[in-house]
Amino acid sequence: MSCNHEDLTEIMKQVGSYQGGKQRHVCAGCAYHLGIKHREQATPFNPGAVDDLKGSQGGPQRHKNAYEAYKLGFEGR
Ligand SMILES: [Zn+2]
Repeated sequence: MSCNHEDLTEIMKQVGSYQGGKQRHVCAGCAYHLGIKHREQATPFNPGAVDDLKGSQGGPQRHKNAYEAYKLGFEGR
């Protein structure tokens, strides 16, 4: 089951594509939200945490760089 991040379409346009490595299948939309969550909870910057997120094959977040998305969320952009 894939999640829908239509609301992140504009944000995902800022995120580069990524075709290699296992995190290719990690949902960049969820990674973005994880970054926001870590910032709000004052959790140290930890992009490796996105590896534990579920994958997603569709929507604007498809094949986006999840680490980059996490960073965007963490920095509040
Ligand atoms: Zn997602």
